[in-house]
Amino acid sequence: MPKTLLAATTNEGKLREIAEILAPLGLDLRTPFEFPLVVEAPEDTGTFEGNALRKARHWHAATGLAVLADDSGLCVDALDGQPGVYSARYAPSVAERNAKLLAALRDLPPERRGAHFVCVAAFIDESGRAVTAEGRCEGRIHHEPRGSGGFGYDPLFWVDECACTVAELPSDVKHTLSHRGRALQALRPALERWVRGGDRP
Ligand code: IMP
Repeated sequence: MPKTLLAATTNEGKLREIAEILAPLGLDLRTPFEFPLVVEAPEDTGTFEGNALRKARHWHAATGLAVLADDSGLCVDALDGQPGVYSARYAPSVAERNAKLLAALRDLPPERRGAHFVCVAAFIDESGRAVTAEGRCEGRIHHEPRGSGGFGYDPLFWVDECACTVAELPSDVKHTLSHRGRALQALRPALERWVRGGDRP
């Protein structure tokens, strides 16, 4: 019997990536869309780890299931790390967020456009024991959007080692270097122990 895990996000891009990255574990992956009466968790702790744990605990309390939550965002050097934990709320839509970011960095040369993505993934098992892991991806904000893959800020996020934006990468390549891929890779031993029926996350 596959183990049931609730991926605690309604962000379609995150859901797709979590499903792809965790596919080798053969899980029965559930989503919040199957629990329409449960309201979303507040994201008000001010840190990626605090928000990830808060979402994981919220969905575990509401469903009793094992849960994987992801809190992530884009930290831009020239903006003192903003939008950071507020990346989803930087502007109302993806197009407006990307336009606002480009406008904020207008005329800055490449060497002043450094940025990194952060993801904290929080796993909580059926009995409520939690473990977290962080992943980062370094890059810079390109001067115009490029590519149609990924989601969110990906068309603006330039990765030097690939000489392209994340939105120009196939998703399996994105997962090898992305903040989410790295956070979930770091959680992998705990997830494998849980799948095998080990006693601690
Ligand atoms: P939250 O974790 O729900 O607060 O939202 C994170 C926000 O950060 C997303 O809505 C995106 O705007 C951005 N973000 C997180 N991960 C990625 C990614 O892999 N690519 C592009 N944008 C991302």
